Amino acid sequence: MKYKNITVAGSGVLGYQIAFQSAFHGFKVTVYDITDENLEKAKAKFSSLSLDYKNDLNATEQQIEKTRQNLRYTSNLADALKDADLLIEAVPENPTLKIDFYQKLAKVAPEKTVFATNSSTLLPSQFAEATGRPSKFLALHFANTIWIHNTAEIMGHAKTDPKVFEDVIAFAKAIGMLALPLHKEQPGYILNSLLVPLLSAATNLLVSEVADPETIDKTWMKATGAPLGPFGILDVVGITTAYNIDKMAAEKTKDPLKIKIVAYLKENYIDKNKLGVSTGEGFYKYPNPAFKNPDFLK
Ligand code: NAD
Repeated sequence: MKYKNITVAGSGVLGYQIAFQSAFHGFKVTVYDITDENLEKAKAKFSSLSLDYKNDLNATEQQIEKTRQNLRYTSNLADALKDADLLIEAVPENPTLKIDFYQKLAKVAPEKTVFATNSSTLLPSQFAEATGRPSKFLALHFANTIWIHNTAEIMGHAKTDPKVFEDVIAFAKAIGMLALPLHKEQPGYILNSLLVPLLSAATNLLVSEVADPETIDKTWMKATGAPLGPFGILDVVGITTAYNIDKMAAEKTKDPLKIKIVAYLKENYIDKNKLGVSTGEGFYKYPNPAFKNPDFLK
């Protein structure tokens, strides 16, 4: 493995998970955030994440202790990068903020450091120039709850060095990810390119009064063997996310069906705090949703 020292920038929801997962797999990880206060918040997540690794992956106390020893924290950018082989950027999803961050990084990072963005919706080509090292820059995109939903989508831009692309694939595998290479830039990567249209088609059917959520889910589950249907998935993703995506689409396209979907989701779900698994109810009631019932598909 070419990389030893990893720096994760941004210690929020995803950043801290990436740092923990990399440290768990034996890498020396530096966690960087803009303030020491944010780093304290990140450190506080160590114990709850340790419990998740114990419960979900049977991690031992020894592995957890080793993970702790592999992590260091700093709010000094130059110090964070001083011997970094790979920098993984997980700062907020804001293009201006990310460009500013890459410009600062470019000034302090050693020449050898490869930069990877975890951005969900922005493309690496948008930041390639700001990094000052386009050939050593690409996207490495993880999913929330990285230790169980261990996908890593790896996507370069036109100027990414193929060798760097291969090295990052090897790194993703080394931290226990299922490495999923994309050979072209694609908004939404593979997962969201598939998922967003599926979920959107499901809400279209519902709001057009073609069928109810359970029937739509049964169709998908029985016909494809999937463990969840689109409405079951929407409950996991969170109905707020779907609502926000539809709202943006409705404002942009003025499509009457989209406008109807936004109003429907707001009235029946958002305003009633039925946001999905996180609030105990969405299209289904949790912890025992109807689709888990053995008779659901009979
Ligand atoms: P978050 O808001 O939880 O965390 C962002 C962190 O970055 C915060 O700790 C914040 O203090 C820090 N930060 C702010 N400005 C900074 C700066 N200039 N330099 C360094 N750190 C700074 O966000 P998140 O949900 O972890 O998302 C981070 C990135 O990961 C985004 O690009 C997002 O698209 C992507 N992502 C998120 C998810 C998810 O489910 N949350 C999944 C996949 C990818």
